[in-house]
Amino acid sequence: DLEARSISAWFGERKVLDRVSLVMPAGTVTALIGPSGCGKSTFLRILNRMHELIPGASLAGEVLLSGQDVYDPARKLTDARKRIGMVFQKPNPFPAMSIYDNVVAGLKLTGVRARRAEKDALVEECLTKAGLWPEVRDRLKQPGGALSGGQQQRLCIARSLAVRPDVLLMDEPCSALDPTSTRRIEQTIAELAHEVTIVIVTHNMQQAARVSQQCAFFLAEQGTPGVIVEAGPTKRIFESPSDTRTSDYVHGRF
Ligand code: ATP
Ligand code: MG
Repeated sequence: DLEARSISAWFGERKVLDRVSLVMPAGTVTALIGPSGCGKSTFLRILNRMHELIPGASLAGEVLLSGQDVYDPARKLTDARKRIGMVFQKPNPFPAMSIYDNVVAGLKLTGVRARRAEKDALVEECLTKAGLWPEVRDRLKQPGGALSGGQQQRLCIARSLAVRPDVLLMDEPCSALDPTSTRRIEQTIAELAHEVTIVIVTHNMQQAARVSQQCAFFLAEQGTPGVIVEAGPTKRIFESPSDTRTSDYVHGRF
């Protein structure tokens, strides 16, 4: 499981998250929902130590992956990177790099060495899991930038899978995509969830309902830092939330 314990976060003096705790069970999809600016992306970046890279950013609390402290000072930053992959709203493959090299680039970034035959097998495996195989089998030498937006996003998913992460964080992965590509990514998420713990931020309530087993509703009320109003099984959050602000949000009333 991935577990956030009492996470607070600041940008300079400004507090943007206040004591957020959430358990994201292994093998499930957790959706993070809530209005713009409530701290969802900040929370995701804290989960894989990207928050540390932002000047002026600070935090309190703990992140545990399989019971181990992700922020253990004795471990390298790349260690967290290897175990926790991330996919962003805007597909960001290396545009001039070949599709093949894009997939194996994840290995280089985290210092994993592999032989050619291993890489070939890995490229096929990751592209298959990301739903791009055999679609791009004959295009592996073409630049990543030559793919459509939806294909580029699936390439980014394949790239993050190359290091065999335990967790995949996805920050609005479909909001730049057409409905067909969105459906394909949702299928991929459902298939991946068996082997990778997935946390997805989405503004699309139907999507949250379709892909997640658990849902956490974030809210930052008038100048106060973001909190989780409630979290629980997706069905309950949508059908019988315990807080009226949750039902207002999931039913589009604010
Ligand atoms: P959205 O749904 O629009 O993506 P979000 O829930 O992901 O919103 P965050 O991006 O996490 O929200 O932002 C939370 C708060 O932190 C906002 O008030 C935002 O202005 C602030 N913030 C985010 N990144 C930075 C930064 N690099 N420097 C300063 N403040 C930041
Ligand atoms: Mg965001």
